Amino acid sequence: MFDTVIKGGTIFGQGYQRIGDIGITGESIKEIKFDGSLEGVQVIDATGKLVFPGFIDPHVHIHLPFMGTNAIDNHESATKAALVGGTTTIIEMICPGPDDEPANAFAEWKGLAEEGACCDYTFHLAVVRFDDIAKAQLRNLVENEGVQSFKIFLAYKGALDMNDENLFQLMQLCKELGVTLTAHCENAEAVDSMQKKLLGEGKIGPEWHEPSRPRSVEADGVNHLCSFAELTGATIYIVHTSCGIAVDRAIQAKNRGVHVGVEAVAPHLVLDKTYAERPDFEGAKFVMSPPLRDKEEHDALWGGLASGKISTIGTDHAPFNFKGQKDMGTGAFTLIPNGIPSIQERVDLVHTYGVCQGKIDLQTMVDVCSTNVAKQFNMYPRKGALAIGSDADIVVYDPNFVGTFTHEDGLSKIDYSGFEGMERKGRSDAVLLRGKVVAQQGKFVGETGSGIYLPR
Ligand SMILES: [Zn+2]
Repeated sequence: MFDTVIKGGTIFGQGYQRIGDIGITGESIKEIKFDGSLEGVQVIDATGKLVFPGFIDPHVHIHLPFMGTNAIDNHESATKAALVGGTTTIIEMICPGPDDEPANAFAEWKGLAEEGACCDYTFHLAVVRFDDIAKAQLRNLVENEGVQSFKIFLAYKGALDMNDENLFQLMQLCKELGVTLTAHCENAEAVDSMQKKLLGEGKIGPEWHEPSRPRSVEADGVNHLCSFAELTGATIYIVHTSCGIAVDRAIQAKNRGVHVGVEAVAPHLVLDKTYAERPDFEGAKFVMSPPLRDKEEHDALWGGLASGKISTIGTDHAPFNFKGQKDMGTGAFTLIPNGIPSIQERVDLVHTYGVCQGKIDLQTMVDVCSTNVAKQFNMYPRKGALAIGSDADIVVYDPNFVGTFTHEDGLSKIDYSGFEGMERKGRSDAVLLRGKVVAQQGKFVGETGSGIYLPR
């Protein structure tokens, strides 16, 4: 007798899709059988449903001081939103300022997550400060605290960006420590110059955000990082690629032997730059970097996912309210806090606009939203797999649910939805985190603060 049995759903296991039962005892999967024989104290009927490994979001911001304000979620609100959307593990970016010590930043972010996080979590640590004190602390965090990935910004000149001398040294350190370097790739100098030019011409609205950082700026950033990876041997991971040309630059490097992973994020897959052109400053809701692109890029990104060029889908969840935060930029688009939150909507967006439209299949959805993330960031097969011994992070998914995306259903504290009114197909009907049901049909039913840190 198991504590819980998930019965009769189509299980997306390791290398198969088959109707069966999953037996859970304690926090992990103990048995998977296909003859209907498993019995449990609690039985979850999954007939007609799909049974997925818990989804993992590789790119999340919760605690985020940025552009003179703070992202509006806390760990409780963001992780409840994640869970009702089927995401059971997140990787949050620790983003300290240029003067902050990495060790203090790690302690601060971890402390906040320990208080409120309802799903499991781990971190990418952004490297902004890079003097001898910082280097020693980075080494210690990797060796003793389970940090396995850093983040750098080739963007945000004068705030978060890093010069090439430090970048080269950091990548040597990554190679030595076996750490993956995740990177926001643009050319910070080019963006800065373009911003000044446009503002000088009186082009101040959110519709000028995309022209200030066009595709070539992103492709150049990707190319630059790949060149340094080729020189240093470091393993890199390009976050939120928004267009085909940026993906191509990464794949060209991969073909030269560079160890490079490529991520897409949900907003770039379903929204385009016309959203940022909406009148009366509403476009500010759709400002993120890299920016939303021409609609044609959607096919490049979905095609990249289908062919395996792009290996993961995250969100770059970074919630700033429209009123009181985004409107800091009414006088200049450069002052609009960046972000289009989607931590709750990610899986359903991918299902609706990827799977249901025939752009990717269900197995690819599971791979890019869960399994590949776990593999890329050293959590597999504890996470990202329906397998005996894995954590019982499980999503019972109803592919036949039909509705609309709306702000009203959101558990994030954000005051708008970037997907308001868009058609929605599919819903996570039951979400289990380490054996416990924590979300049901869009409602959080778990215990606040029950997420744990995953050292890697
Ligand atoms: Zn980000």
